[in-house]
Amino acid sequence: MTSEPKRGSPVPDKPHMNPMTHMTNEEFRRQGRAAIDWIADYYERVASLPVLSQSKPGDIYRSLPAQAPAKGEPFEHIFRDLDEKILPGITHWQSPNFFAYFPANSSAPSVLGDLLSSGLGVQGMLWATSPACTELETRVLDWLVEMLDLPRTFLSTGRGGGVIQDAASSSTLCALLAGRERATAFASNETGCDGRLTVYASTQAHSATEKAAKIAGIGAKNVRKIEVDANFSMRPGALARVIGGDKLVGKRPAFVCATVGTTSSMAMDPLAEIGAICRENNLWLHVDAAMAGTAALCPEFRHIHRGLELADSYCFNPHKWMLTNFDCDCFYVADRKALIDTLSILPEFLRTKATESGAVFDYRDWHIPLGRRFRALKLWCVIRHYGVEGLQAMVRNHVALAQQFADWLRADSRFELAAPVNLNLVCFRLKGTDEQNQRLMDRLNSSGKLYLSHTRLEGKLTLRFCVGQTYTAEQHVAAAWKEIQETAKSL
Ligand code: PLP
Repeated sequence: MTSEPKRGSPVPDKPHMNPMTHMTNEEFRRQGRAAIDWIADYYERVASLPVLSQSKPGDIYRSLPAQAPAKGEPFEHIFRDLDEKILPGITHWQSPNFFAYFPANSSAPSVLGDLLSSGLGVQGMLWATSPACTELETRVLDWLVEMLDLPRTFLSTGRGGGVIQDAASSSTLCALLAGRERATAFASNETGCDGRLTVYASTQAHSATEKAAKIAGIGAKNVRKIEVDANFSMRPGALARVIGGDKLVGKRPAFVCATVGTTSSMAMDPLAEIGAICRENNLWLHVDAAMAGTAALCPEFRHIHRGLELADSYCFNPHKWMLTNFDCDCFYVADRKALIDTLSILPEFLRTKATESGAVFDYRDWHIPLGRRFRALKLWCVIRHYGVEGLQAMVRNHVALAQQFADWLRADSRFELAAPVNLNLVCFRLKGTDEQNQRLMDRLNSSGKLYLSHTRLEGKLTLRFCVGQTYTAEQHVAAAWKEIQETAKSL
């Protein structure tokens, strides 16, 4: 038994050190309860708070002391400042009136899972540094293959497997690095890129591909942005033409990123056609389904993944639309060896018997950082709390609400839809100028009653209304629509 450190007792035999006060377990229990109460109260009142923070640049910074406290403070002071100083600078992603960007929907089971993960304080860089951290992750990611009916090549029991990354951007980068290595017989890792490698994604793909190309040394100039059709989906014919043209001039096509649910308009790239082109030309195909992937929980939406069996890698973000708090991106590869051979480096201090046995996964070799949190715990809590049926119900509810919103728009001749309404995203415009649409969005957002965001489609400013927050119900969507109609009248 170790004795508990006494509150306020200085470290006895090191007089040069400052007095150090650990929180006692008793106080930890008390403040921990207060923190959970604070969060539960927050959930109860969040719908009444202005969704978009009304604070001005520098407001929060100036409200905080210029220097850190020399002596420790009671935790109550921190709670007080959380309310008074921090909350005004929060944009409420957990408000049911949040319709901007893509959601970052969280849930109580996820928060508890994250809390437990923090409590355990595990650093799961190697299997040996916490076998449960690795093996729970492997198991939960295998569950998700079944839950989303993903290709079985992604299962860890075969040659593939899944790993949790912080974000879809990191998955894209890892996929691109593996694609780069495969295209150069693992020589780029040794000697660097020769400037001939090329990468392909649609004009609507997330900027993460371009960023990854910069980081990977391929260069933004070697990213080809492939044209899209009237639905904003990549044109496979155009992809094949551009690849062919590149080959003719001595380029080395290496990687394609296809998107299931583009950020601007939720467009779906045709995976089967793109996959066939990748196979023909031996290109790595990565599929980015950051938000939309979750929809495949429901059999009726699984068409979004048609052709996914041709992909080398795939990712989707439970931290967007599967009730799991940020950060949690699930990244799958069909051939884990290609990924591991790309990212693995084994210094002496990381050698373990388990690693050498070849019987375990060391997830440090599956992503960029060495260290890793126990993120699988929150995903496990979410899946076990809601069950597959609960998660399916969430998806169906959000999709139905978005489709209802689109029907209201269609019935009002002042508005027009700007893209096909796929799943839970509605892109629309007031029939009028960009300035009018900008004014409409600014007024709505500064009202604090709802928050939506914009994009540009076919050169025109377009408003995006995405339904995906945990607590969004019909009443919130109806109130938002009413507010949009009223505000449009007053422009
Ligand atoms: N891919 C798509 C399609 C996205 O919509 C987004 C973000 O909205 C990303 C990638 C980047 O996501 P992350 O923040 O997880 O890197």
